[in-house]
Amino acid sequence: MKRKELNLRKVVVIGDGMVGSSIAYTLLLQSAATNVVLIDVNVDKTIGDALDMNHAVSLSSPKEIKAGDYSDIVDAHIIIITAGANQKPGETRIDLLNKNKAILHSIADQMLPYLNKDSIILMVTNPVDILTYYMSTILPLPHEQIIGSGTVLDSGRLKYLISEDTGIDPRNIHAYVIGEHGDSELAAFSVTSIAGISILDFCKSCGKCKKYIHLEKYKQMEKEVVNSAYEIINRKGSTYYGIAAATKKIVDAIINDTHSVLTVSSYIKSALDGQISDVYLSVPSVVSERGATKTLWPEYSLEEKNKLIDSANKLKQYY
Ligand code: NAD
Repeated sequence: MKRKELNLRKVVVIGDGMVGSSIAYTLLLQSAATNVVLIDVNVDKTIGDALDMNHAVSLSSPKEIKAGDYSDIVDAHIIIITAGANQKPGETRIDLLNKNKAILHSIADQMLPYLNKDSIILMVTNPVDILTYYMSTILPLPHEQIIGSGTVLDSGRLKYLISEDTGIDPRNIHAYVIGEHGDSELAAFSVTSIAGISILDFCKSCGKCKKYIHLEKYKQMEKEVVNSAYEIINRKGSTYYGIAAATKKIVDAIINDTHSVLTVSSYIKSALDGQISDVYLSVPSVVSERGATKTLWPEYSLEEKNKLIDSANKLKQYY
């Protein structure tokens, strides 16, 4: 089949459940995307959602949103995949692996006849790092064009907690949750900063608490970030607004070619003297219209490096 030119502002969302529909709605209201297509095995849901969202168009900004099928991916710049089972109370993300692998296999088969060599695949379905790797073994695209939403959401959660504590606008906090989007992730406090001031120095100058107390506080914040999905799922069944905003941020970085530094799940061929290799996980990555073109490696503390290596090794057990 002759390949079509990409429509650089077209996004296809495969999986129109809580997460997929929240992403589509966020893109509709606020993003650089102008064309959004919904695909799901539940076709009625996509038709209903498209109709409902079209009623918001005259109240927001001109966009085309429709229910579609796999032929719609042919010229899509970004294909977001959210289809699959979500966590039930008590389940970890890894518990979803086998069910969601089978679903993604069938989705990949349907994508292949239409896949454009320039499209970017943005995985959201959990366990996102392992499934992003899995899709990279099936889809004939370079690693940089297959990325996961990774810990963009978790980094946002951490910035929120630091903001609550310091009173600083979360958008002015540089903080990174790295590793697995899941139980082995870690908050890299050694490279967290506000206005170029390391968070450790910022805390000292604030004087609100003694040093040992703020170290305890960091551990507590990291724990809260790791457990926040469980907390939300226990209370309302699933999480979707945070991931919708995180996905919108990634979509805009791709469409606007911003070269933003985001903790997407990126392919790491080899890093930290080969101690991390051939794995998808989250580290600060440069995101542009070509996907995640570069990963960045600040000097983490030894403890953080070791945790990151452990996180990578944990993920690789499931390949
Ligand atoms: P949901 O059950 O509300 O929606 C899943 C949707 O997938 C349903 O509409 C279902 O019909 C559809 N689907 C199932 N099989 C399909 C197939 N073969 N083809 C097309 N569509 C298919 O679940 P949700 O709450 O939207 O969660 C979706 C996924 O997103 C889960 O794996 C969840 O864990 C994950 N998630 C990821 C993050 C993240 O940060 N990466 C955050 C929240 C949720």
